[in-house]
Amino acid sequence: MRKLDIAIAGAGPAGLASALFLHRAGHRVTVFERFDAPKPLGSGLILQPTGLAVLARLGLRGKIEALGSRIERLYGADAKSGRTVLDVRYDALKDRSGRFETGLGVHRAALFGVLHHAVAEAGIAVETARPVGELETGTQARLVFEDGTRSAAFDLVIDATGARSRLRGHCRTPAEPRPLAYGAWWASLPWQEGFDAHALEQRYRHASVMIGVLPIGRMAPALEEGGGEPMAAFFWSLKPDLAETVKARGLAAWKDEVRGHWPAAAAHLDNIGSFDELTLARYGHHTLTLPAGNGIAFIGDSAHSTSPQLGQGANMALLDAAALVDAVEASADVEAALAAYCRMRRWHVRIFQMASRAFTPFYQSDSRALPFLRDTLVATVARVPPGPRLLAKLVSGTLVTPARR
Ligand SMILES: Cc1cc2nc3c(=O)[nH]c(=O)nc-3n(C[C@H](O)[C@H](O)[C@H](O)COP(=O)(O)OP(=O)(O)OC[C@H]3O[C@@H](n4cnc5c(N)ncnc54)[C@H](O)[C@@H]3O)c2cc1C
Repeated sequence: MRKLDIAIAGAGPAGLASALFLHRAGHRVTVFERFDAPKPLGSGLILQPTGLAVLARLGLRGKIEALGSRIERLYGADAKSGRTVLDVRYDALKDRSGRFETGLGVHRAALFGVLHHAVAEAGIAVETARPVGELETGTQARLVFEDGTRSAAFDLVIDATGARSRLRGHCRTPAEPRPLAYGAWWASLPWQEGFDAHALEQRYRHASVMIGVLPIGRMAPALEEGGGEPMAAFFWSLKPDLAETVKARGLAAWKDEVRGHWPAAAAHLDNIGSFDELTLARYGHHTLTLPAGNGIAFIGDSAHSTSPQLGQGANMALLDAAALVDAVEASADVEAALAAYCRMRRWHVRIFQMASRAFTPFYQSDSRALPFLRDTLVATVARVPPGPRLLAKLVSGTLVTPARR
């Protein structure tokens, strides 16, 4: 394919990774971001072997591994009985030589910092304070910004503006996220001894209570300054509509409730001084069947959003970026590249979106039957081969091939 003029809307993991791939393939790339200075939102996430492989392709794996915390196990117990109800170990993926890939807990700022630094080093144009509101299509496409100004003309537009994209109307199969009943409060806190530094630990009571502690290593800016304290992402599942009611009861009452379910969490709660330190994350779910339109590709959360129950979102965003550049490089024109991109990611996206949708109510819902099944039948089956390996493949994102060639 000839070298293209490409506009990327959104400087999250999907937008920054695709900018790097396409720039390195020789295309002229401009990134448009709504914030004055690009910045990450939220707390921590798990990079799975799939996402780490994409970062390795970009030559950035060493940098992110230097900041993150290796995750070897996802562990969950019933808050009342203490019984183990989830125990996914990455070593179930051992090959014949005994090697296995693990996850990597990272602060969002670390992932963002590593990608953004590489984009800046490559000299890729990033225009900030440019919130995209619309798209004009034709032989070439133009972005229309919220202030009414228009961009130059581009051969290809990539929408990487996340779950609240305003461009999805241009998709051939448009779909908008349906809000999920539960979201969560998240906080990034100093790491505390007494927790497993290589595991995501969770406590549940039915499916209406879920508390988690994820080791996320250090933040990128701290590393550049020569250090940085290890951190944890702490989360508490709640219905967004009830957040104000919980706040009205006061911080002490909320902490009492959390401690009642998981006494050891007190060490983290002591570091929360006000509700302002908690970020409320609302979750939604949608999947674009064909994530493309006339001259536009949708990648990352703009193409498929879900609850973070399976921890795949950022990894899927990175996989989309890698698949899109492969599709562009293998195709004769933009239309063929968009069709190839849709085909390449189709099954992986579908299967993980379906699994995520199916699993979420087992962990975040008002149901009593589903968590009962989770704690009895599923917990038992998960211990019997091939259960452990299948679960590890699901969590690591490798249950099906990430991108069909
Ligand atoms: C609480 C929580 C926990 C999570 N945990 C995990 C996990 O463990 N593992 C995992 O893989 N994923 C996890 N995820 C999901 C993951 O964070 C997302 O899937 C990932 O960030 C998607 O990347 P993205 O680049 O597509 O979108 P985003 O990260 O949302 O980035 C979108 C970018 O576009 C910009 N933008 C938005 N609108 C406009 C506009 N109109 N014009 C210009 N720019 C715009 C935004 O400012 C932002 O920079 C979690 C998500 C949440 C909310």
